[in-house]
Amino acid sequence: MRLQGKTAIITGGARGLGESMAKLFADNGAKIITCDMGDPLYTYENVEFYKLDVTDSEACKKFSEYVIEKYKKIDILVNNAGITKDGMTRKMTDEMWNAVIAVNLNGVFNMTRTIGPHMEDTGGGSIINISSVVGEYGNIGQINYSATKAGVIGMAKTWAKEFARKGVQVRCNAIAPGYIMTDILKTVPQELLDKFAAATMLGRLGQPDEVARAALFLASDDASYITGSVLSVNGGMRL
Ligand code: NDP
Repeated sequence: MRLQGKTAIITGGARGLGESMAKLFADNGAKIITCDMGDPLYTYENVEFYKLDVTDSEACKKFSEYVIEKYKKIDILVNNAGITKDGMTRKMTDEMWNAVIAVNLNGVFNMTRTIGPHMEDTGGGSIINISSVVGEYGNIGQINYSATKAGVIGMAKTWAKEFARKGVQVRCNAIAPGYIMTDILKTVPQELLDKFAAATMLGRLGQPDEVARAALFLASDDASYITGSVLSVNGGMRL
């Protein structure tokens, strides 16, 4: 019960990594508020669901103010919602570029601009930005995605400085997963997935709960002296 008594917001929690984190955090005693575009295919004790488009700045502000009013203290924010729209730079349209920036970058800002200061005002908290191995090392055909995933690392480091500048224990870290078996990979050809698996030291792709357990660590007081860091969860992909 490593999150006993804590309240967490997880964006994009209807499925994939968000679902895995929501369940694991709830199993560890937290009250979970998830928000997503689509409805979740699961119900879980202590996981409350709201429909929210993280690209909608006004809606995010209203949602954040509502949950702060309702729960009084938000201890954990996981900026997890994310999308891909892959293509080579020469073929990338404005629509593909802007759509990925809107969710993966603006969405993180839209949520944290209210919840981060709330944590600062109420004595502490843990913010986790879900980045990617692609944000650390780049990837052919993902200029939009790599820009956002590198961006959320910069945002994590900035918030680690900004929200703790008065000595308040607000921590902000990023997790950079490798290739993890969720729907986001469903458009990736099998031969590429095999190549990614072979490129890891562990010789396989990751499972959602392997990222969720890393997030649980960073969210919990076990990581009380860790801030501004990037935790790579990629099976040793880039050693
Ligand atoms: P999924 O596609 O399974 O889940 C992403 C979730 O985000 C979906 O439920 C989706 O909702 C939601 N979402 C998308 N757009 C919005 C929006 N505008 N507002 C609110 N929610 C939204 O992907 P993963 O679980 O794999 O990905 C989770 C995070 O992990 C992402 O940030 C991704 O980039 C990152 N990541 C994933 C890796 C992997 O290999 N799986 C590797 C590295 C990083 P809907 O279905 O309704 O669109």
